[in-house]
Amino acid sequence: MGKEAGPGEAPVGDAGVRTRPGAALLPVFNIPDRATIAYEVLPRPAGDAPGMALLRDAFEAAQHTSPAILLIPFNGIFDSRAAEAAALVRQFGITPSEVAWIVGTQICQDPEADRHVAALRQAGFRFAVEAPEWAATAHHCIAAHRPDFLLIDPACVQEVPDSRLARAELAALISFTARLDVSIIARGVDTPAVAAALAAVGLQHGSGAHLSPPLVMDTSLAADGDMVVDAAWFRRHAPRRLDPVREDAFIGTHVVELREAEHDAVTSDEVAQTLAEAARLLQAEHDPARIMGVVAELLPRVIPMSSLAILEADWDTDSFIPRLLAGSEVAALRDVPFPMSRGITGWAFARGTPYNCSNTLTHPAAGTVPGTEDDWDDESMLVIPLIAGDHRIGVLDVWRSGVGQFSERDLQLCALFAHIAAAAWHNANLYREVEHRARTDALTGLHNTRWLDEVMPQEAARTLRAGAQIGVLLLDIDHFKLINDTGGHAAGDRALRNVARVLRSVVRAGDDVVRYGGEEFLILLHDSGPDGAVRVAEEVRQALFEMPPAVPDVRTTASIGVAVFPLHGDTLDEVVREADLMMYRAKASGRDRVIAAPVEAQIAEAS
Ligand code: GH3
Ligand code: MG
Ligand code: MG
Repeated sequence: MGKEAGPGEAPVGDAGVRTRPGAALLPVFNIPDRATIAYEVLPRPAGDAPGMALLRDAFEAAQHTSPAILLIPFNGIFDSRAAEAAALVRQFGITPSEVAWIVGTQICQDPEADRHVAALRQAGFRFAVEAPEWAATAHHCIAAHRPDFLLIDPACVQEVPDSRLARAELAALISFTARLDVSIIARGVDTPAVAAALAAVGLQHGSGAHLSPPLVMDTSLAADGDMVVDAAWFRRHAPRRLDPVREDAFIGTHVVELREAEHDAVTSDEVAQTLAEAARLLQAEHDPARIMGVVAELLPRVIPMSSLAILEADWDTDSFIPRLLAGSEVAALRDVPFPMSRGITGWAFARGTPYNCSNTLTHPAAGTVPGTEDDWDDESMLVIPLIAGDHRIGVLDVWRSGVGQFSERDLQLCALFAHIAAAAWHNANLYREVEHRARTDALTGLHNTRWLDEVMPQEAARTLRAGAQIGVLLLDIDHFKLINDTGGHAAGDRALRNVARVLRSVVRAGDDVVRYGGEEFLILLHDSGPDGAVRVAEEVRQALFEMPPAVPDVRTTASIGVAVFPLHGDTLDEVVREADLMMYRAKASGRDRVIAAPVEAQIAEAS
């Protein structure tokens, strides 16, 4: 006799039992460092046509998966209703750019589907194209549509370890898509051999049983092989977001002179001394710029070189960003991010081991730096991935003109230096991250009150010195308990994230938004007097009112108190208290309104 489920108990993991339709999430990883970058949404029961229930489940899950991208099968529900689709995802606290619709290459033959896709893209959504075979027949379609992602078929992916032809197809596809800014995702990474073979060719992103099974949060949805997880699982596997490289990414790039040294006479004693000096200088250094400065200063003393570059692996944008450039001609690297999978640097970085390239011109992965095509000379190159533990932080490139200029000893020495520098750099990054986290609210990503306590005295002093003013808005969501009570705590959290997003979008980039309490927010408007502050407060009130309701028929409104530093108090603390008082007045007089501390009275008192 089989076991029977008791009354009210849902059967668990039984693929044959039809329960409610919903979504499973298949994590898409960055293969080299195992960070999640996206989740592919799979219908449950498996094979179900993707309908509205799947979408709702997927968007609901986004509160855990954000800012990873959700790859969702395009099902025609939103044909000609792009604006509606955008409003729906916003209701769930995510932006359209966090959703990529998966389409087939048939969109290229179907002008109508093509129009729908264009409208959705216009509304901010992303796209993924499912490639047939190795996508060779679809090159034209991919070039014309430039999807954000290209999904490669498991059958093709699984050929890669054993077939040179498959590796050649993949290499060609990588270089084709890199030029179009399309990220490739390999489906069906089912064994370590497949993962290793993909990484060796330089492919970054993949999904499959070797990386992770599909995840479900509701046991009744689980199909065979699914893993049931809770919210804590997603917190432990915080995703990484994929963004375009920002223009200000290069602000931290230093171009320095390369010290010429006399190399004939480098003794082992000198090498040991230089290494000891590097270790001493780097052990307590928390400034990445100084860490790289030490490398650029000391390494040329022991290894002859004509130029050196330290590049940071920016996983968020899938690019290398130059951080330090020294020596002849490397200045051309400045301001050019290049995809991580490109060139000898990308190739060696993907392999993860130091590499001595005796001739850069003949290496199959060689690329060129724009602007330097005219002076192709024979060059030798050392490429040293900067790795600390599991973290691939960046890469150190060293060049010298002429073929075969670097010895194995040079490679070893460089690797030793890189090892010390990578450990220091990683510590510096951790330090910065801990500092940042301590000042950031985990739910909304806004500043927290600790940040506020730290910056308030400085901000106040700076404002007084400049003879300027700070507009202070204190905002409390109206009847927030109702959202929690009707939609549950998750709906409340979602509403809070939505509010945070709206607040950030209304204020200027230089203004500060703080999560001040549970559902209270504080906004500091720099260089803003009473009129400006009230105007922004009114814009905020309106924007919140227009937000899609968090639960059906419950609008999110807020009561906002406004006061101005130093008009309403000698310290920012006092001004915040005044704004708080005004916020309570706004509550008392009916909510969903702005009340500002009176200005005339203050001026009359002061005179
Ligand atoms: P009003 O301000 O209009 O007087 O009514 P209210 O319902 O908003 O009342 P109050 O400010 O007293 O309630 C705030 C509620 O916010 C109580 C608390 O459970 C809820 N809350 C606080 N922090 C969080 C959070 O992080 N997530 C969720 N979901 N709810 C929160
Ligand atoms: Mg409150
Ligand atoms: Mg409230």
